[in-house]
Amino acid sequence: MSLITVGTMAFDAIETPFGKVDQIVGGSATYVAYAASNFNVPVNQISIIGYDFPAEELEALKSRGVKMDGVEMVSDKKSFFWSGKYHLDMNSRDTLITDLNVLADFNPIVPESYQDSEFLMLGNLMPKLQLSVINQMKVRPKLIVMDTMNFWMDVAMDDLKEVMKEVDVLLVNDAEARQLSGEISLVKAARKIMDMGPAFLIIKKGEHGALLFHQHHVFFAPALPLEEVFDPTGAGDTFAGGFIGHLAKTKDISFENMKRAIIVGSALASFCVEKFGPGRMKEINKEDIDNRIGEFVQLVNFDIDLV
Ligand code: AMP
Repeated sequence: MSLITVGTMAFDAIETPFGKVDQIVGGSATYVAYAASNFNVPVNQISIIGYDFPAEELEALKSRGVKMDGVEMVSDKKSFFWSGKYHLDMNSRDTLITDLNVLADFNPIVPESYQDSEFLMLGNLMPKLQLSVINQMKVRPKLIVMDTMNFWMDVAMDDLKEVMKEVDVLLVNDAEARQLSGEISLVKAARKIMDMGPAFLIIKKGEHGALLFHQHHVFFAPALPLEEVFDPTGAGDTFAGGFIGHLAKTKDISFENMKRAIIVGSALASFCVEKFGPGRMKEINKEDIDNRIGEFVQLVNFDIDLV
């Protein structure tokens, strides 16, 4: 079963308490693709890059089975550039620069060869472009998952609400859930957000795990307590790629399987933060991932006798 991933392919400049990089490959679709390509499912990428995007990075993704037919290359413009600085606890960060560059004129086209994809991952991108991809699908995918961020809530809230009506699963962090709903309680926020469209909502809480909401059900997945978190950039996208990769591989979109999928997503995200950029995602294999999922099982598994 194949999967379309849409989002940015970018250069990032990142500062964390552990170091600084001025230019490293990033972007929402880059991280989603690295994560989703671990599941033996064809990954059909839709994005845009400038003349400066490294050919070896495209090759690295291609060698993992990521198709690039939907990636536009612009020969006279720079790639999207984002710069962020993390605070000491690394659960919060400030965006310093968002240079749209090629993204300013992006008009994503879904290639004919992608049309049979049954899963659609709308990575963080202008909401209008996310909607355009949905509208180009001749047959509605079996599952549409959408990621977004506070930046788009600030500059394109109306468009964002239009896309939300069309998706099955929305991914946001806790601050974004509060911003989107105007509610402080995450349970009330979840109810309001699900009323806006998505039947499933995932609220990410950084090192405090993630919550999955559906109707009156809620499930909690922890994040693995790690000795060192080097760079959280891309953890949300990696989580998303792991989540949808697992669902596409197992072809099961039930709430029960989504619980497993958020553990898989959390396991992949726990690797992503161990190095700057997508570096760690390039190194890991199935055995590493399986072992890490096993650590999650141990983390939350307990017996109790109620007397
Ligand atoms: P995450 O840490 O999961 O939120 O994702 C970080 C990645 O998202 C970085 O690699 C950035 O290049 C990319 N990014 C940052 N801001 C935006 C934006 N406004 N739209 C799309 N992608 C973005």
